[in-house]
Amino acid sequence: MRFHLCLVLALLCLAPGFQAPPQEGAGTADLALINGRIWLGGDSSSFAEAVAIWGSSVVRVGKTAEIKQLIGERTQVIDLGGRLAAPGFNDAHIHFLGGALSLSEIDLTGARTVAEMVERIAAYARKNPDKQWITGRGWEYTPFPGGLPTKVYLDAVIKDRPVFLRAYDGHSGWANSKALQMAGITRETRFDGYGEIVRDASGEPTGALKEGAQRLIGRLIPEPAREQKLEALRQGMKLAASLGITSIQNASGSLDEWSLYDELLKGGELTLRVSMAFSVGARTTPQEIDRFVALKDQSGLNPMLRAGSVKFVLDGVIESHTAAMIERYSDLPLNHGAPYGELTMAPDIYRDLVVRLDKAGFQIYTHAIGDRAVREALGAYETALNVNRRPAARHRIEHIETVAPEDIPRFARLGVMASMEPIHADPGTSEVWSRAVGVERLKYAFAWQSLLKSGARLVFSSDWPAAISVDPIRGLHSAVNRRTVEGKPPRGWVPEQRISLGDALRAYTQAGAYSSFEEGIKGRIAPGMLADIVVFSQDLFKLDAMRIHETRVVLTVFDGKVVHKDSARF
Ligand SMILES: [Zn+2]
Repeated sequence: MRFHLCLVLALLCLAPGFQAPPQEGAGTADLALINGRIWLGGDSSSFAEAVAIWGSSVVRVGKTAEIKQLIGERTQVIDLGGRLAAPGFNDAHIHFLGGALSLSEIDLTGARTVAEMVERIAAYARKNPDKQWITGRGWEYTPFPGGLPTKVYLDAVIKDRPVFLRAYDGHSGWANSKALQMAGITRETRFDGYGEIVRDASGEPTGALKEGAQRLIGRLIPEPAREQKLEALRQGMKLAASLGITSIQNASGSLDEWSLYDELLKGGELTLRVSMAFSVGARTTPQEIDRFVALKDQSGLNPMLRAGSVKFVLDGVIESHTAAMIERYSDLPLNHGAPYGELTMAPDIYRDLVVRLDKAGFQIYTHAIGDRAVREALGAYETALNVNRRPAARHRIEHIETVAPEDIPRFARLGVMASMEPIHADPGTSEVWSRAVGVERLKYAFAWQSLLKSGARLVFSSDWPAAISVDPIRGLHSAVNRRTVEGKPPRGWVPEQRISLGDALRAYTQAGAYSSFEEGIKGRIAPGMLADIVVFSQDLFKLDAMRIHETRVVLTVFDGKVVHKDSARF
């Protein structure tokens, strides 16, 4: 036994991020979780009863009686009382700073009627009389006649202050007249970038702005101070811990945001592991790329904060007809100017950039929602593979809301990860999405099962705050049921694309670790792995699937320490 332990420890010392256990009291664990049902994750479906943790790492898993041998005076022992535990969640596509800042704004998430939204907006304005700008997010397209909001609703409650509210997906904005006026948006204003100032039949701006046109107003909203951002991140980390999220992969990183995490890391405040993808596009300068390369090389194997990825946005979203499709949208008039949606940049420019960044050693994320954009991304990755011969680059495509069936096998063949948000299929059940895509393409809407069957690696995330919820439990619920928490539609939305709970959990844990090249140190519970563990209020594996969403995280262990405990439930 001792010999075995020594061997484990010797191996552990070789693992990146490992801290040597304290000499004094060797043989005893710092933390022991006992009497649980611990899903070990990974490819197996095996369970253990207990786990022992030393410093930041798991040292042993097994039966409670075995783990008890490692309990000493200084060991913190937590009796799980039969509860289910699992590896901590890895949210593999999130805009964490934006989400954290949105916690102090208007939250329109889940508002099912325009009246309900207006009520929340008015209440927020009353409560915050000193706020110069009323900002928020979370509205969905379906409650509005025609699928888009107008300034009229906002003007009825707020006239004197500018209001700007982003859709749940971040791809459209909703402004009142005051905000339009401050931005100088009139009948005469032209916008030639990627996006649109939406107008009524008479040419008058309606208050809805698509994609890049949102910047016309967004640029006027005062940027929060650094201290405000740090405080927002602290609040965001608390929320993440309460939901069992122990790792994130940031999908819109900037040097400024990097420096915030770096400050929290140095102050010992990080309670989640951050892998950063820096935003790039046609306008990214060579100097910026050099800086990203330097951070990539410098952060190396740091399991707390690392940089090694870049992110492109190649198209928009289905609901506003900005996602790039192979065939025309099903619900647009024949004389529509952009019936296929459009790419954000010329395919050859995108492809050249992909090849260059691949050569520089980056992992690449590409936002591609329409089947045309997905095809372009696969094509660019294939070119990069042929030119640079880096088969282990682990490039990813983000969202993949629609995909041509003949492109599905290319993911596994090229080693491209399918990075998707189960929660997006929730408002996806909405009429606006389905109408735009049409019956034919619906079969491959959020095609999790088809992708898994083809051998593609599926990795899950929330896309928060471009999502109705950051809670991974809500994501699991959608992945397994393809029904809203209210049970709609009754037989599930494109039910053949549902996946099992085990597959969904793997997509939130092990696959996330693989995606940041860290499957050797996290994403499973096993000796030598980082001790990031989550405990649930009820056993997800034994529940009626429609009750998954009622589950709560009652305990979160991060880096070997308890960072969240729900005392009311546990
Ligand atoms: Zn995103």
